[in-house]
Amino acid sequence: MDGTDADAIRRAMAAPGALGRGELARLLSLRTAEDRAALRAAALEVRRRHTGNAVFLRGLVEIGNSCGKDCLYCGLRRSNAAVHRYAIPEADAIRMAKWSCDSGYGSVVFQSGEIQSEGNTDRIERIVRAVRADCGPDFAIVLSLGEQSRETYARWREAGADRYLLRIESSNPELYRSLHPVDHSWERRRDCLAALRELGYQLGTGVMTGLPGQTAEDLAGDVMFFREIGADMIGSGPFVPNPETPLAGAPFDPKEALETALDFVACVRLHLHDCNIAATTALQVLAPDGRERALLSGANVMMPNATDAEYRRDYQLYKGKPCLDETSGQCRACLEARVMRIGDRIAWRQPGTSPHYLARRAVGL
Ligand code: SAM
Ligand code: SF4
Repeated sequence: MDGTDADAIRRAMAAPGALGRGELARLLSLRTAEDRAALRAAALEVRRRHTGNAVFLRGLVEIGNSCGKDCLYCGLRRSNAAVHRYAIPEADAIRMAKWSCDSGYGSVVFQSGEIQSEGNTDRIERIVRAVRADCGPDFAIVLSLGEQSRETYARWREAGADRYLLRIESSNPELYRSLHPVDHSWERRRDCLAALRELGYQLGTGVMTGLPGQTAEDLAGDVMFFREIGADMIGSGPFVPNPETPLAGAPFDPKEALETALDFVACVRLHLHDCNIAATTALQVLAPDGRERALLSGANVMMPNATDAEYRRDYQLYKGKPCLDETSGQCRACLEARVMRIGDRIAWRQPGTSPHYLARRAVGL
């Protein structure tokens, strides 16, 4: 690594927001194993300064796979007739969240395709209310249900949802447009993020790394974007081509995809310092220890699957999804061993509120 990059890493470790886009793009272009290891070690040091060696768990409930959108990369897109569509009955969704709570996970994430309907809004509202009543005030409820009206987001917040994850997918509107049909809007997604923040949600966003046509400058722009919108949580992961989508034949090198995704996690930690960063499932598709390597690159959150096994096969964004046949209990045991192996510990029963969120709320932002 030359002196310029080493100096950039030192400044990034000293204060959040220290780097410009060009400097981040250079760090995202490091190619030797030694340079990449230095970048990730610096990010790990910043992570441990803010959240110690605690790893927070969120039980992931894939509550339904019907979707009104047609994102070119995603297996759940409405044009994919090969998918068997399901919606988990309310009582079962509540049971899975309660299982997460009873198992010592500090939070649950309800994720699904995007459905904009009064019926779906009512259904989610009832589920959130029931989980809040069953699991108490300290259990965090996270939603990842796509773009919705401000009124819908407000109703779910009022029902008891604390956090919302909505990836911008790419901060570059042109790149976004190349990956979506014309009726999908980057601007609408950005406005949804603004509405979520105003409504008091802990705000989560992210991108896919390794998208076709994406450059190191684009990724640097993504890191800057997260800071500009004041994101509290980041969930980013590698793009993995799905054979049932129009991007089936996109260029893809699993080894480099993993390395890029890990460098990206490290740069997010170095630029944002006190946000929560998820070690996402897609990383595990690229390497069995992909998520642990993300923890060692600055991530501090894991999302074990808490969905009943019978539904998992139908929620495949990409092929190669891990743990399809495991029970939620097996996922829990496997995760604890993985986390301990790298010198971290699971923060059982803690909601793992983003330190960034706590800091901004303390000053009324
Ligand atoms: N429908 C909601 C939304 O789009 O925000 C939430 C569920 S969606 C399946 C969650 C995320 O999956 C998307 O934000 C996208 O980044 C990711 N995803 C979809 N297809 C993918 C693929 N082929 N490779 C990696 N990630 C993918
Ligand atoms: Fe639907 Fe989300 Fe997949 Fe897009 S990424 S097709 S909105 S489930």
